[in-house]
Amino acid sequence: MLPLGSTPFFTRVLLLVAVAAATIPVRGSETTVTPPAPVARSSAEQQDDIARLTARRPVIPVQGAQAKNLIDSFIQSRDGGARAHEALDIPATRGAPVIAVEDGRIVKLFLSKPGGITLYQLDPSGQYIYFYGHLDRYADGITEGMAVKRGQILGYVGSSGNADPNAPHLHFAIFKLGPEKRWWKGAPINPYPVLRGGASSENPDLNKGN
Ligand SMILES: [Zn+2]
Repeated sequence: MLPLGSTPFFTRVLLLVAVAAATIPVRGSETTVTPPAPVARSSAEQQDDIARLTARRPVIPVQGAQAKNLIDSFIQSRDGGARAHEALDIPATRGAPVIAVEDGRIVKLFLSKPGGITLYQLDPSGQYIYFYGHLDRYADGITEGMAVKRGQILGYVGSSGNADPNAPHLHFAIFKLGPEKRWWKGAPINPYPVLRGGASSENPDLNKGN
């Protein structure tokens, strides 16, 4: 492409319009929380995190969902290739209960344009954040700062934010916090292997290891 600085103003506007049109996401795609600032991490570190979290045997965060039906979408592109998904989408009927993957504490209830009604849960070690997005609503009594138990209902599946209204789903992400421990900033960890190794919320023993 020509350097923009050397083109007349109207041509530049046309070019910008063309670029914007090309990056409009197709219907059905969705985005969520602003991706965390990249943190350089070795794959050994990431494997370590995955092993540590899997060992806790987290439940699948949508009640009734089965590990064997999960589809890994961590590296799928979003926003026309502008970024990676870095999360797991779990399709479900609107209103299906969203449950805590393990014990922890709610650190933030946040309404964002892309993620809609979202919830950030800190894990018991204070190192990881579990993020639940596109909720229809929070469960009654859910407040910031409260402790939650594994399997506790946090909210309900929806399509808030920029999810397709015809395809309600839970957008679930895991972040490892940096040393400053800010709830909105961390390195993404793929939830797929963590939840595949974990137990189904419906049938904990039948879904082990598949
Ligand atoms: Zn998603």
